[in-house]
Amino acid sequence: MSFFFPNKSKCSICQLAIEEYKDAVLLGYIEADAYPELLKYARSFAHRHCFNNWSNNQDFIDASFSLVKNYNNQSTNIIGPYLSIDKNDNILRIKDYYSIFEFEIRVEDLGEIRNNFNLLISDELDSINFNDWNISKKETEYILQQVNENTIIDEIHISLNRFEEIIQFLNESDT
Ligand SMILES: [Zn+2]
Repeated sequence: MSFFFPNKSKCSICQLAIEEYKDAVLLGYIEADAYPELLKYARSFAHRHCFNNWSNNQDFIDASFSLVKNYNNQSTNIIGPYLSIDKNDNILRIKDYYSIFEFEIRVEDLGEIRNNFNLLISDELDSINFNDWNISKKETEYILQQVNENTIIDEIHISLNRFEEIIQFLNESDT
């Protein structure tokens, strides 16, 4: 377990302290065999900005997704490139290894949430809320904010193409 300390936890890429959790991303486990030089970054915090602009960005994403593809357990269902759904009892955990985020949805809420996602990407809704997430569409990206008592605790920016691809795979998954 990695713990984040504001202004203390260091970015494994630029080595500077990370001010707030919403600026950070916790990098996942990776398949080390093919990418031994990246092993030291697994389970480390980095600035999202540093991760997105990192020369090893695509290799790290591949190393992390390759681990899931090759060694996943039976509850993990790969539904698209860099995207999986875990099902545990009544809870679906949707994980994106590309932008590195995950959220949980109750099975009985999936239909309504899918419907709202589709309204968002077709511009019929400006933003949607579920659980503690708010998702809105801007000109060139979607912004996912996790909010707790009016404070933004996490914020993730995803390109229009990638977000719409995620929704397409969610629509097609038979979970
Ligand atoms: Zn950094």
